[in-house]
Amino acid sequence: MMFNKKNLIPVPVLLSLLIFILILDLPSQAQETIKFDDYFLDKAMRINFYQVGQAKEEQIIINNIYQEPIWPESKTNLTNPFNYGHYFIKVYEVASNQLIYAKGFDCIFGEYKTTTPALNGVSKVFQRAIRIPWPRRKVNLVFEVRDKKNILHPLAMETIDPDDYHLIKENNQPQDYVLEIKKSGPPAEKVDLVFLAEGYRAEEKDKFVSDAKRFAGYLFDIEPYRSNQEKFNIYVIFRPSAENGMDEPRQKVYKNTVLKASFNAFDLDRYMLTEEGFLLREMAAEVPYDAIIVLVNSKRYGGGGIYNDYCITTVDNQASQAVFLHEFGHSFAGLADEYYTSEVAYNDFYPQGVEPLEPNITALLDPEHLKWKDLVSPGVKIPTEYGKEEIDQLQAERRTNFQEMTKALEEAKKKNLKEAEIKKIQKKYEDRGKATQEKIKAVQEKYRYLEDKVGAFEGAGYASKGLYRPMMYCLMISSPKIEFCRVCQRAIQQMIDYYSH
Ligand SMILES: [Zn+2]
Repeated sequence: MMFNKKNLIPVPVLLSLLIFILILDLPSQAQETIKFDDYFLDKAMRINFYQVGQAKEEQIIINNIYQEPIWPESKTNLTNPFNYGHYFIKVYEVASNQLIYAKGFDCIFGEYKTTTPALNGVSKVFQRAIRIPWPRRKVNLVFEVRDKKNILHPLAMETIDPDDYHLIKENNQPQDYVLEIKKSGPPAEKVDLVFLAEGYRAEEKDKFVSDAKRFAGYLFDIEPYRSNQEKFNIYVIFRPSAENGMDEPRQKVYKNTVLKASFNAFDLDRYMLTEEGFLLREMAAEVPYDAIIVLVNSKRYGGGGIYNDYCITTVDNQASQAVFLHEFGHSFAGLADEYYTSEVAYNDFYPQGVEPLEPNITALLDPEHLKWKDLVSPGVKIPTEYGKEEIDQLQAERRTNFQEMTKALEEAKKKNLKEAEIKKIQKKYEDRGKATQEKIKAVQEKYRYLEDKVGAFEGAGYASKGLYRPMMYCLMISSPKIEFCRVCQRAIQQMIDYYSH
């Protein structure tokens, strides 16, 4: 059902209308704090919408709107202290024109539009659902999107009357097996996590519950989650899949599972997502939740995480713990990838000269006002020299040496050289590789004193140059000790506080 014909208002009309609304509204929102009960019922409104388009054009089309039985998020932090997410939803009360709710978010479409097919004009459509508290009176719902400079612009608007009979108020009785595995207090005052099962067959329910408990344990093993355990409620929801695992298109493996999770998202083999955005939120709504974690019953390496949407990870890979903590860092706390060497599907994800939104990477446009300046270790220079160029150079040499060895050995075999001669060739390259490795170690040793220091280390956000991260090691790049850097820890703490106040 199309909720309202107005969905397809041409953008220019919208823009002028909304700029007018926004200008009018700015003074009042800054002055008043919003009292939840004055504007909202203790229920949630789930808005299912489609995002359609490519790199140059995009559209939001509302599908259906549902009522959920409670509002589990904060009743005091309503207009959002964070500037995270490439999209924003803002709710204005029609009668007073007051901004009464705002929250940033990211979405699969937001990532899609930076991929090569999208830049070539190939349109795609994705599902997304977002939740706001149930308004007592008529509201204007405004979706905003950021431009390349991270400035927000209106993208779509919808007027919603909470008494409209199109809004769906179904019986919310859970359809699935639901279990509360950790209870700390009322949902509005706690962070409520929900684990959803993907690729578990009916007889694997107990495995799923024990996997969910194991993953909750991973969270509470590290800071800042460890010190905040009493601020979390945790639920699990089990719906059996017909088959184990998930789709692996590159391997031509296709599995019949509840959430249709698939590797090879954006044609990147290790990236796993589910595109069942409506079903995901419908299932999660069987419990009060703030953040969704999808556990996929597989040994394969990989996962994905999208801010204020969901995180997804396989459960039985030796790296699953680190993958989960990393992906949940994206989806829960809006953290950026700090790595810069792996292949990604995005183009120009962080345009040059624009400060990234995320708290844990910076373009260092103004070193004097580095966003984590207060955490920088005494005596550490900004930017922080840590032997990166030398190490990158040596690592490139090591890779070239390995490629040359492979080629030389193939040729030797083609020429039918004797075993002893082949071994001699192999040893020559291996010795060279070892020598390079020793040089790398020596550089690392020289800068080892920086390992526990906060500074600004170049190489972050898929860019070897021009973007900086706070510490050498962190779960958002790679962490031998399985830890977040101190800047990421603080950002996670702020998000825990946001949901639990
Ligand atoms: Zn970090």
